[in-house]
Amino acid sequence: MRELDYDVVIVGSGAGGGAVAKELAPLAAAGKRIAVLEWGPKLAEDAYTGREVEMARQIFFDSGGVFTRDRTVTMAYGKAYGGSTVMYTGTSLTIPGEVVAGWDVPGIDYGDLQQRSAKYLDENNAHKLDESELNDNNRLFRAGCLELGYNVEQFPINVKGCRSSSLCNMGCPNGAKQGTHRVQLPVAEAAGVEVITNCRVTRVGEASCDAVVADPGFGLPSVWEPGEYRIKAGVIVVCGGAVNSSALLLRSGYGDRLPALGRYLTLHPALILVGEHPHEISNFRGHPKSFYCDEFRESERFILETCMYFPFTTAKNLIGFGAEHSELMRAFPRLQMILVLAMDPALASNRVLLDGDGEAVIDYTMGPTVLDSLHRSMVTSARIFFAAGAQRVHAPAGVSFFIDRKDAGRVEEMIPRANVVPGKISVTSAHLMGGCRMGRDASDSVADGWGRVHGARALYVADSGLFPQSSEVNPYVTVMALADRVAEHIRDHAGELLQS
Ligand SMILES: Cc1cc2nc3c(=O)[nH]c(=O)nc-3n(C[C@H](O)[C@H](O)[C@H](O)COP(=O)(O)OP(=O)(O)OC[C@H]3O[C@@H](n4cnc5c(N)ncnc54)[C@H](O)[C@@H]3O)c2cc1C
Ligand code: SF4
Repeated sequence: MRELDYDVVIVGSGAGGGAVAKELAPLAAAGKRIAVLEWGPKLAEDAYTGREVEMARQIFFDSGGVFTRDRTVTMAYGKAYGGSTVMYTGTSLTIPGEVVAGWDVPGIDYGDLQQRSAKYLDENNAHKLDESELNDNNRLFRAGCLELGYNVEQFPINVKGCRSSSLCNMGCPNGAKQGTHRVQLPVAEAAGVEVITNCRVTRVGEASCDAVVADPGFGLPSVWEPGEYRIKAGVIVVCGGAVNSSALLLRSGYGDRLPALGRYLTLHPALILVGEHPHEISNFRGHPKSFYCDEFRESERFILETCMYFPFTTAKNLIGFGAEHSELMRAFPRLQMILVLAMDPALASNRVLLDGDGEAVIDYTMGPTVLDSLHRSMVTSARIFFAAGAQRVHAPAGVSFFIDRKDAGRVEEMIPRANVVPGKISVTSAHLMGGCRMGRDASDSVADGWGRVHGARALYVADSGLFPQSSEVNPYVTVMALADRVAEHIRDHAGELLQS
């Protein structure tokens, strides 16, 4: 095993890790040794081919289809230089004030997070697309919502030089999406922060960690030789994402004194719904996600967003098979798509744990309130599709595969609540939050409001794992805002934390 010395080790290079790396860049420029250890590869620019199956295999864990233990939900999260910011869609929202108030974490208030969020919205070039850049899929969603009198808002998107290829979730082939791989990590590296890819951290302690470098067979080579490493570090910042940060700390033995570790995981359980128009619409050209409807966030606990997925992902999410399924897939150029996000409560029983090999297992159950939200969201989406002009709608819990336009007034009875059963509908998640939640003390949380692990001197978490409850909006901006706080705390205490 090779032994190395650093002042700061950051585990993971996604929204949290990338923000910490950049914010600690002044320390690197002043001579401190800082390393980002990233499990995933760095791909060359021309390796982003947009080919769905190939890209899914290279930049996601389990090709974007990690199952929960009972196999009722699949989860997508990234494994790459830049983490999930490589394949996120780039919708850039600030967390609502009432959600932050509900978190009730000492030291964290809306004003602080809002200010830090504004910094990242600016840094990552978040802005609303011009009307001329919106495709039919997005315009129809807005039209349907307005027709029904629902509130509809436009997303700020963090792109620069977007060429409308609609491939965001496979990694942008045009270098347009402004994830940490394009913004924060290059700045950190220019200041002297080292980023080591293909490097999985297997254990963390308070003054050292163990890691293994292995060549995945694609992507650029790691700057470290394949092999095992022990790295001494003054400060360790865990930013592996909600599932992997929890798993890493559990594997490292922190579960014994932190009973909340791995728990209170929330997923924003999601449905992909489609409506079929009588004529072709522009759907797989143009940025996929421009509008959202939060009319029902507080009352029925879901939000609706525009989306457009690729044929494989779409097919997987349409419940049914055989001739009807083929018929709908053949209508792909005529499909309008809506993504549902349900607001799931943070429950101690929903958690990350380890299997016998020390690998993460996600034990997650969709309770009745989540199923109610998913049901209401299907009914509401069907109404929006019809209001936008769809000739028929596919509802995963419908009494028939298609609901025809002539039945548009009967969607309530065509989509019975009793049909919304886990395992019978295709539920996904790309917004994993919690597991290392912030809070007052170790009785029901893992870290304090600065991300410092309770009882630890120099071990921090700075990623989506910190969320005490879900963000109720797309989370990446909030992840960066929280990571910004963690980095500030480390900078402010560098004198005592980094004595070398
Ligand atoms: C397809 C998709 C679309 C999304 N779209 C949006 C969107 O439009 N807007 C939005 O706000 N959010 C979106 N999200 C969610 C957003 O990307 C995440 O909330 C955010 O990136 C989480 O940041 P993080 O730092 O916690 O984890 P990540 O960004 O996932 O980064 C974690 C990194 O740590 C690495 N890692 C894990 N364990 C280890 C280890 N043991 N050793 C070394 N490295 C490790 C992983 O390989 C990964 O690269 C999307 C996510 C996905 C998957
Ligand atoms: S739509 Fe824009 S940001 Fe998305 S993949 Fe295409 S060029 Fe990149």
